[in-house]
Amino acid sequence: MPASWEKNLRSIQAFYTKALREAKDPKNLETLRVEVLGRKGKLTLLLKDLKNCSLEERKRLGPLANQLKDQLESLIQEKRENLTAADLKAKLETPSLFDPSLPGASFRQGHSHPLTQTMNQMTEILAQQGFSWAEGPLIESDYYNFEALNFLPDHPARDMQDTFYISSKFEVRSSKLKEEDQQPRTSHLEPRTGLLLRTHTSPVQIRKMESSRPPLRIMAPGRVFRHEAVDASHSAVFHQIEGLYVDRQVSMADLKGTLQIFMQSLFGSSTEIRFRPSYFPFTEPSAEVDVQCLFCQGGGCTVCKKSGWLEMLGAGLVHPNVLKQVGYDPETWSGFAFGIGVERVTMLLLGIQDIRMFYENDVRFLEQF
Ligand SMILES: [Zn+2]
Repeated sequence: MPASWEKNLRSIQAFYTKALREAKDPKNLETLRVEVLGRKGKLTLLLKDLKNCSLEERKRLGPLANQLKDQLESLIQEKRENLTAADLKAKLETPSLFDPSLPGASFRQGHSHPLTQTMNQMTEILAQQGFSWAEGPLIESDYYNFEALNFLPDHPARDMQDTFYISSKFEVRSSKLKEEDQQPRTSHLEPRTGLLLRTHTSPVQIRKMESSRPPLRIMAPGRVFRHEAVDASHSAVFHQIEGLYVDRQVSMADLKGTLQIFMQSLFGSSTEIRFRPSYFPFTEPSAEVDVQCLFCQGGGCTVCKKSGWLEMLGAGLVHPNVLKQVGYDPETWSGFAFGIGVERVTMLLLGIQDIRMFYENDVRFLEQF
């Protein structure tokens, strides 16, 4: 009996040591464990057989069996840990667990302000017509905003554009920072410093012409300021795009052709424009440019006040005095200029009734565009 018992023990040891080491997965490992160490497992039964042996044999064989039991148990434990780790690694690396077609975590995404969108659209059209980008300061001198543009001192045309002048207090405040000085930084009534918030983008014309030789073709988009009461169609701050083209023999026909393409690109290929005589100090002749009403196609509606036309922009040929002012010879060079309000175009394009909506930063309004 002891000889065959011991032989059994060795064969169990040889078989299960190898089998456990080679177990492929936790389930396979468990099956092997039950087979050898379970209540009716081979080693369990072999241990029970010991009771048929003599006391002496039991003392010799018992420890061998327990030793094998410990050996197998620690082998199972070690193998189980390895398999669990391998299993997890495999799961993480299996492509099926990551489904790239599932929607990702979404973030609220912002977008450009409607005015910026229109401004981009307008400058893109002008860029296609050869106008290059130009900018100028928001705080201007009286010279660039008025004088160089043929607004003579005391010329009544200055009253056409209600101006925010920078008061002399501003200079005191900015240089000495007097705390007791509670005066407003800008005042409509204090033209003492010669500085003002620009009332139009036209000063950029002067700055650009001063710094370059003709021919030139520029667009100057930007913010402008007027001292006006704010209502549904007026704002104290708004945006313009200025266009200027100076070359030899530039005529009203060039202006009209350029504006026709501009308006048709903006509002649709069937858009009609018309010129009405007007007056600006810095252009001669000057024109108000209308587009055929976008809402009634000229038939007459409430938006166009039954006229069939919408006022769109001011334009004209650059006044010889303006050319002289920057050192261009008006006998050689001529040019056209125009200025268009970005708010007005945006309101027409998007059907917005109140200009104040643009500046209230109400996300419920802005996210619609
Ligand atoms: Zn209409």
